[in-house]
Formats: sequence, structure tokens, C-alpha cells
Amino acid sequence: MDKPERIEHFINGAVAAGTGDRSQDVTNPATGEVSARVALASVADVNAAVAAASAAAPAWADTAPLKRARIMSKFKELIERNHDDLARAITREHGKVFSDARGEVTRGLEIVEFACGIPQLLKTQFTDNIGGGIDNWQLRQPLGVTAGITPFNFPVMVPLWMAPMALATGNTFVLKPSERDPSPSLMMAEMLKQAGLPDGVFNVVQGDKVAVDALLQHPDVKAVSFVGSTPIAEYIYTEGARRKGAWPLRVQALGGAKNHLVVMPDADLDQAVDALIGAAYGSAGERCMAISVAVAVGHVADKLIDALIPRVKSLKVMNGMEDAAEMGPVVSAAHKAKIEGYIEEGVRAGAKLLVDGRGLKVEGHENGFFLGGTLFDNVTPEMKVYQEEIFGPVLCVVRVPDLKSAVELINAHEYGNGVSLFTSDGNTAREFSRRIEVGMVGVNVPIPVPMAWHSFGGWKRSLFGDTHIYGEEGVRFYTRYKSIMQRWPQSIDKGAEFTMPVAK
Ligand code: NAD
Repeated sequence: MDKPERIEHFINGAVAAGTGDRSQDVTNPATGEVSARVALASVADVNAAVAAASAAAPAWADTAPLKRARIMSKFKELIERNHDDLARAITREHGKVFSDARGEVTRGLEIVEFACGIPQLLKTQFTDNIGGGIDNWQLRQPLGVTAGITPFNFPVMVPLWMAPMALATGNTFVLKPSERDPSPSLMMAEMLKQAGLPDGVFNVVQGDKVAVDALLQHPDVKAVSFVGSTPIAEYIYTEGARRKGAWPLRVQALGGAKNHLVVMPDADLDQAVDALIGAAYGSAGERCMAISVAVAVGHVADKLIDALIPRVKSLKVMNGMEDAAEMGPVVSAAHKAKIEGYIEEGVRAGAKLLVDGRGLKVEGHENGFFLGGTLFDNVTPEMKVYQEEIFGPVLCVVRVPDLKSAVELINAHEYGNGVSLFTSDGNTAREFSRRIEVGMVGVNVPIPVPMAWHSFGGWKRSLFGDTHIYGEEGVRFYTRYKSIMQRWPQSIDKGAEFTMPVAK
């Protein structure tokens, strides 16, 4: 058998082998075959990437925003031209179905489109003559070297939540993508270079905890954006806060989720069932905005369950490259075993297993990491399957008597990423949206992922840090605010002043 392809780093405008001697397999989840080996960066490799980003930072920060926007615009064209290649790489290494992978690329592309408007976004406010011939205004200045650490489930979209915003605002960037699906990171690095981005402005280090820790500790890294599971998000946030040095590390760390979809008795049941099937089982449930809990309010529960069972049983689970596929495999054998463990745990805890996805065989793909859709009824808040993020094709139904109990249930959960409500009553929708302690709310919308200009982020243990990601919050995260007060010699009175300066 041929030696598998080696996926390496991208440092200072070129692919770099790195100095580390560690590497790991990259697997096609549909076949179980090893498609490549990815290099795992050493501390020296991270230092080389940060050095390249530091060297490139001053000139890039001084590049006019309009010129940076033009590079983003070329990058956008290149993503459009290579849309299918990127999507194929996602499906090969992640497993999600090709049409879903194409959608992921589109959602990432939208951030690039938003970043093309950076000259307007960097405009600030100016006050003429606050008094005594003094004017006051602000600058939004880039931070310098910034870094992004991203999860396996969106290998194109999540890096694009960060990098276009960081680059357009005048920062340089080091991306540490997930080691499980690393190829798209290099494809995007090549496209940015082709778009005219100077060498060193965008770098990629492949790797694991060693690379992440080296980025967190490096004194030249001024900000880290992280997206991944909650334990690691919390680790990144607290380690970042602990770092010593002149510049505290700025961190935004987006974590895991347990998203509920509430079905009210007055909801359109067909629409609610369609929404649940797509949002719970799309991408095999490996989305931070996947719906993993259906909250059935009042008498709707039995009808909802009856409608869900045949739909879950008939999900078309197959290799994501097949046109008919609705759901592909999960990302790895280990993750599949973890999900199966949760199903076992749900049964043990007394939840009613209505559809069991374990043991599914996909013909011709016997070594793939496939699981069928799984449906539990009578799930209660103290069960592990309710409390923890399973990140697989498992939907738990919780029955509650009324809207108030639904809101209390959701607000008591430690995660607060996304939530959805299906109803035909405007006041119910309004009350729910105002009272729910969750960062992103959908009303008759199953997966309320905000558009590029609205910023994405959860509440509670789904986000550590103050700013949401991309959009105007992204501009704020990647820039430092500076206030300037200025007057000219002709306006200056003679003599020292010892009182607090006030407007005259
Ligand atoms: P993960 O936390 O295992 O990995 C995320 C990143 O952290 C990867 O780059 C990984 O290499 C690195 N990492 C892993 N272990 C580490 C450690 N011990 N120390 C330092 N770095 C480490 O997450 P994942 O499994 O790749 O992705 C799935 C998770 O991401 C889910 O929990 C999902 O909800 C979450 N997610 C959240 C959002 C959001 O916007 N809130 C979006 C996508 C995914």
C-alpha cells in the first residue's frame, strides 16, 4: 500500500514540514480507511509560525483597510471557485453529507463577504471641539498576532468565523485546526496566498495540546479565539487569564451545547417534526447548534412521538458522498463508541428507547463509523443523556406540562447555546424569547445560527469571555480601542492646571 499523504503546516507563505516527529492518522469515517497522516507541531514549530506572524504584523497593520478588503474579496472569489473541492475535503475527513458540507462552506463564505466591508466597520466616532480647541475621537487598532483553535465539526466554517475578521482588522493569524480533519486549513491558506495576502500574515500549525499550550503561553500572541468542547474552552479561558506579561491574553472561548426545541400544543406539528429531524440528525448530530432535546408541552407529546418514530427509522444513513444520503457516519470509531455508551446509559437510567441506532450496517462500508438515528422518550433532567452533550444522532424527548416548566427546564441547564420554539402564538414567542437564558433563539426556526453581521455566541457554559464571534462583536474582539484628544498650540492657555480638566 502507498504511504499515506502527509498533511503539514503552513508557515510564512509556504507548506512547512516542521521539526516535530509526532504525527497521527487522518481517517475517512465512511470507510474507516486512513487517508493521510497529519503532522503534530512541536513547540518550535509554533514558535516559527508566531515569529512569521510577528514579523508580518507591522506592515499588515499599516496596510490600508480598503487594500485588505480587496484581498478578502479575491479570497471570496477563490472560495466560490473551489467550493466543491472544499466540501469534498470536508466530507472525506469529517463524514457529513456533501450537500451539508457545501452549506458549511457557504456559511463560512458569508463571513468573508462581511469582512469585505471592513473600511466601514472600522470607522469610529469624532467629537469636534469638546472645549478649549480640543477634539476627541477613537481608533480601533489591530492587536498584532492572533490565534484560532478550532473543532473537528466545521473545519471550514469555524476557521472562517475567525480568520477573515482578524485579517481584515489588520492582525496576523495562526490557525490550529482540528487534527481530525486538517486538510481544508491548507487549502484555505493556499487560497489566501493566491488572493495576495503577504507571507506570514496567515499561518497554520497542525497539532494537538502541545501546539495549543505553546500558543497560549507565547508572549507575542495577543488574542486567542477558541471553538470546541466546554472543558477545553474553560481551560483555554483560565490559562489565558493566568498568563503573565505586559499584554494580558484576550480570549473568546466557545464551548459545547445541549439545545432544546420546544413544541407547543398550538405548533404546526408537521413543521415541528421536520425541524426536529433535520436539526437532531443532520450532520449526525455533530453540530454545536444541533437539537438534542425535544421538549413536548402538554398533550402534544404522544402525537409528536408517533410522528417522529417512522421518520427516525427511515433516515437514509450512508456515505456522505452519495446523493441520497441524509446522514453520514460519525467522526471516529472512538466517538461512535462514546455515543453507544450514552445510549446504554440512557436505557440503564430508565429512559424509553424508541429507536435504537446501534448495530447499523451500511453495505459496502462495513468498517465505517455509522450509527442510525436514536430516539428516547421519557427523559428526565437528572439523567446523564439529558445533562451531557452527546454530540451524536440521539434525540431525547422530555415531557413538560406547560411553557413555564419548559422555560425553567431550559434555564436550569448548564449550557445556553441555542434554543428553538415552535408555536403559532405571538405572545408565547415573545415571552419565551425574553425569558430564556440562551444566547441564540429561534422561533419556528430550528437552527438559529446568526448571519455574518449578527455575531454568534451562547450563554452560560457555552461561552467563556465577553464577546460573541464574528460580526461587529468580531471587529471589537480583534481591535483595541484607543481614545485620542488633540489640540493645536494656538488653543493652549499658558500656565499649569492643577484641577481636574473639565470642558470650558
Ligand atoms: P475539542 O474541544 O475536543 O477540540 C477543539 C480544539 O481543541 C481542537 O483543535 C483540539 O486539537 C484542541 N484540544 C483538544 N483537547 C485539548 C486539550 N486537552 N488541551 C488543549 N487543546 C485541546 O472539540 P471537538 O471534539 O473538536 O469539537 C466538538 C465540540 O466543539 C463540541 O463540544 C461542540 O459543541 C463544540 N463546538 C462548539 C461550537 C460553538 O460555537 N459553541 C461550534 C462548533 C463546535
